[in-house]
Amino acid sequence: MTASTVTIGHGDSAVEVPAIGQGTWFMGEGRAPRRQEIDALSRGLDNGLKLIDCAEMYGDGGAEEVAGEAIRGRRDEAFLVSKVYPWNAGRDSAIDACEASLKRLGTDHLDLYLLHWPGTVPLEETLEAFERLIDAGKIRRFGVSNFDDADMATLHALPGGAGCALDQVLYHLASRGIETALRPWLRQHRMPLMAYCPLAQAGNLGTDPLADPALIELATELGITSAQLLLAWAIRPIAGRREVIAIPKAAHPAHVDDNAAALAIHLDADTLARLDALYPAPNGKVPLDIV
Ligand code: NDP
Repeated sequence: MTASTVTIGHGDSAVEVPAIGQGTWFMGEGRAPRRQEIDALSRGLDNGLKLIDCAEMYGDGGAEEVAGEAIRGRRDEAFLVSKVYPWNAGRDSAIDACEASLKRLGTDHLDLYLLHWPGTVPLEETLEAFERLIDAGKIRRFGVSNFDDADMATLHALPGGAGCALDQVLYHLASRGIETALRPWLRQHRMPLMAYCPLAQAGNLGTDPLADPALIELATELGITSAQLLLAWAIRPIAGRREVIAIPKAAHPAHVDDNAAALAIHLDADTLARLDALYPAPNGKVPLDIV
């Protein structure tokens, strides 16, 4: 069976990371008790969900503070990701934004720093800032988020753009638009994909696969939960290679355990065919789904 890890980064910066990580959107905002959120992320780390995905946007920095508490004393066990707002992604502003994120997280470096979505600051400036942050040891790698295939091609053609480690986009069973163009582009350039909203909290509105009786029935047959089915589907290997890291957000301990156990679930060809029949991939290019 294919190991449940994905390689992030190129050359000397390449690193293997478990294919399921942890999201933090809506943490640090008082929706769940702060202690519960910290414990959930710690529990995820205990269970092998090493990657923690933050952003300066989430809770206006509050999610980074929660993550910072969760990794205290165990920084090396985590693979920390954060994101810069597009309007903070300038030559100097990105440095300031990164330093503020590091302070909130209580660490001296990020494992991966992403441009949250395409903005109006020239990409050349953002790339220059990312390069300076790498040289200063403040970030290990850089990447982007919410970039479609044309955006990726533009980035890739710029000096330093090919160093992009990955693209983080919305991807789940009921939102498969990226399979027609973006996912093949990333595969061709050997860049993994980080799947946000893997439990379909958003995207392709009007469908909620977690509550779909057909999906629940299939999951029950397999002896797993429908959330685990969605995660195992998102990280399924293609042609023997894993290229997706799913980052479900979970504040409840039972959800964390569920998600971690999905790392070991392998879906056979018959199950994948049944899922394709229930939620077919589109035939042609569709605009990138975003939250
Ligand atoms: P998800 O698809 O991860 O859904 C999160 C919801 O699912 C929460 O309500 C959570 O509940 C619930 N849940 C988690 N695990 C289970 C389970 N095993 N069974 C049932 N329910 C479960 O949505 P998100 O929007 O949070 O996306 C994940 C992460 O992706 C974000 O947290 C963020 O880090 C990132 N993201 C990035 C974006 C970008 O633009 N780059 C945009 C959106 C998200 P509970 O918390 O109560 O446990």
